[in-house]
Amino acid sequence: MMDAFYLKYRPKTISELDCASAREMLTSNLKSKDMPHAFLFSGPKGTGKTSSARILAKTLGCLNPKGIDSCNKCDVCLATEKGVNLDIIEIDAASNRGIDDIRQLREKVGLSPLRARNKIYIIDEVHMLTNEAFNAILKTLEEPPEHVYFIFCTTNPEKVPETVISRLTSVVFQKANKDEVKRCLARAVEGEDIEIEENSLDLIASISQGSFRDAHKLLYQLFVSEGKKITHKKAENLLGRWIKLSPEKMVEMIIKGETKSALKLTKELENEGADWHEYLRGMMEYVQKLIIAKTGASKPEETDIDILAISDLNSLTALSLGLAHTVNLLREAIIPSLPLQILICDSVFSKGDSSGPEADKALDSTPKIANYQTKRIKKKSLSGSKAIDLETDSEVNSEASLGLGDTAQLKDFIDKWPEILQAVKPMNHSVEALLRACRPTELNEGRITIEVFYPFHKQKLEEERNRRIIEDGIKKVLGFPWKVFCTLAQKDSKSKPPTDDLYEQAKEIFGK
Ligand SMILES: [Zn+2]
Repeated sequence: MMDAFYLKYRPKTISELDCASAREMLTSNLKSKDMPHAFLFSGPKGTGKTSSARILAKTLGCLNPKGIDSCNKCDVCLATEKGVNLDIIEIDAASNRGIDDIRQLREKVGLSPLRARNKIYIIDEVHMLTNEAFNAILKTLEEPPEHVYFIFCTTNPEKVPETVISRLTSVVFQKANKDEVKRCLARAVEGEDIEIEENSLDLIASISQGSFRDAHKLLYQLFVSEGKKITHKKAENLLGRWIKLSPEKMVEMIIKGETKSALKLTKELENEGADWHEYLRGMMEYVQKLIIAKTGASKPEETDIDILAISDLNSLTALSLGLAHTVNLLREAIIPSLPLQILICDSVFSKGDSSGPEADKALDSTPKIANYQTKRIKKKSLSGSKAIDLETDSEVNSEASLGLGDTAQLKDFIDKWPEILQAVKPMNHSVEALLRACRPTELNEGRITIEVFYPFHKQKLEEERNRRIIEDGIKKVLGFPWKVFCTLAQKDSKSKPPTDDLYEQAKEIFGK
């Protein structure tokens, strides 16, 4: 049972909460004379919002609280720990969105608690409530009965109406830092009387990337294999395997274009019985972290510096869109490892069949765009128009270099078309499939006209979301922000769709 430590040593009181910001905020609220009656616990998944809500509820219900903490001994505390305290009402807004549930809540809210000191409502994923339901609850939030407390939890506080937010005391949960993870491990180390070196705990904390659960899993693994005495050397050996299988490692391989090794890794993960959804989430979180570091919005971690040096922002964004698409594919996948394998093969970073250390060859699209610009600009200069400085800003360049329906440019564009399709693919496979059945026919003042052969294609490609994907793909390859327009091929047109069998396929993909 991998989660043995996690379950046994999870915090049981407010003072034991590992998330420092939440612990401090709740401590000061519980000590204050007028304790707020309604809280909003917000933060990413896995930061302990719901379990902290239950701990707060236990304290509020406890018959003999010790300062800010529950006694964990009275009938109410024991019932709470068993999950049978009828005075704690948990509502999952994801499945009870409706106004009826809230009406029911409102009717019963005035009744006194059965045994506990207070009655506590915990509403999980509260942002899922309908507007009607929010309106229904507003009145109760304005004047909550003396013995009633509300704890709302959400991963998306921005989706909770302002009128509701303004009546709540906000407690923000952040992804745990190293010290917080080590704090949570300390309970298990002490409880099981384990001898472990400080740097091994540091290593666990850095591998688990802010997940208390993963940290406990790792410590438990070490404990199972080594017993109560864990040397740092052993810890490094065992944890090394975990690092090798980590989502971060997978992202690194994709960015380095190590297709073969990445595919091998999926096989290993398959053998380990990986939870693909969680794994993809881990990859997405890592790519997100890289993107934020790449923009300079956050300081990169030392371990990420090498990978950041060989990846560019566009490709990272494309990879993150590709991952989002992979998650969608996973939902209906018959072979759960396949969607990630497709992503690996399709990735913009992918260098075909190659494997091994290819860091230096990893795709950086900048030089390619630069070459293309140079070529265009030179051509224009030769043809007699005024000379254009290569250093001028790219928007000026693009305008200057775009002739009116210049056929040579169109040919250039068509030459680049397969590359554009490749750029679109990781962002949206269906759009790429549709584009394969179309052809670019005209360039005109920053506009590209694409001829489509079915009204259905036109309609789909012109959808704002899809059009933006195509424009992003073009920008990625050519470096210019072109506008895309679709035109339906005339019945008597001599042109034929490049591929036709895709029509049915596309129809299926879009479910139309
Ligand atoms: Zn108690």
